[in-house]
Amino acid sequence: MKTIGFLGLGVMGSGMAGNLLAAGYALRVWNRTAAKAEPLVAQGARRAATPADAAAGADAVITMLADDAALREVSYGAEGLLDALPRGSLHLSMSTVSAAVTAELALAHRQRGSGLLAVPVFGSKEAAMGKKIWAIAAGDPQAFQRARPLIEAMSRGVAFLGEDPCLAAGMKLIGNLLISSAIAAMVQAFTLAGRLGLTAEQMMEVIHHVFDSIVYERYGRRLVARDFSVHFPLKLMLKDMSLALELGAAAGVPLPHAAMVREMVVAAMGRGCADKDAAGSLLETWEAISK
Ligand code: NAP
Repeated sequence: MKTIGFLGLGVMGSGMAGNLLAAGYALRVWNRTAAKAEPLVAQGARRAATPADAAAGADAVITMLADDAALREVSYGAEGLLDALPRGSLHLSMSTVSAAVTAELALAHRQRGSGLLAVPVFGSKEAAMGKKIWAIAAGDPQAFQRARPLIEAMSRGVAFLGEDPCLAAGMKLIGNLLISSAIAAMVQAFTLAGRLGLTAEQMMEVIHHVFDSIVYERYGRRLVARDFSVHFPLKLMLKDMSLALELGAAAGVPLPHAAMVREMVVAAMGRGCADKDAAGSLLETWEAISK
């Protein structure tokens, strides 16, 4: 696998594509807002005019796009990747998207002789740039083995979950439900602690000694330091909790934590925080409505 099309050069995609270039892959890059491709083109990537142009003749095409709608837009149609990707080539779908769109795309690829691997990732902008994201993959096992070096060139590791690509899409939403629930719990706890006169440092000491968790430590420290730089925009948390609720409803599993976090996100969205950091926006909103 040598020639790769990369579609979606946002916060995550630009770092991931940069690591593929550094690993020596021949990269064709495409982004809806063309200017975002410039740094990668300056480093040796070829600019693709359309998703189809990036996919034509490629061994694999990677999508790292915002949501289901974006994935459908770049996949179907005259300029989409589906009809251009050669038979036998792979589509690695790395965005956080629904199981429904994942199943639909897997079928569309099967009908054309290409294949879909769902490979969503955990991590942040820094992790994407530093090759520290953790990937979870599902799809045809042989296709996974072919794609493994490519995934490993962008990540610190990858777990294979099984043949059905929807397993990886579901696991990603489950992971984000766990992370978002931890953030929401800390936002409520920190707000109450502040009202009682407990200091942020005292809260962090309890978190450090009682919860041996990367998520509690990392997000807790950011909240305590009031570091509200955008690590994960609030609008993506709204998408993820909405998708988790859909998945839960389809599986007949009530998800009250997802519903609670979603309502907290809706409250923060109402204060104009869609593009701001999710954790910071939730804390500021909770402090404001608690006055
Ligand atoms: P982002 O910075 O907002 O980038 C989104 C990308 O999708 C951009 O390239 C954007 O193009 C493109 N896009 C949006 N709508 C489109 C459309 N209708 N047609 C074509 N392209 C479209 O988001 P991100 O943080 O990189 O996240 C990408 C995916 O990874 C999301 O599914 C997210 O949930 C997931 N994820 C994010 C993180 C994180 O910490 N940020 C971590 C793990 C997973 P433009 O540049 O033209 O807007």
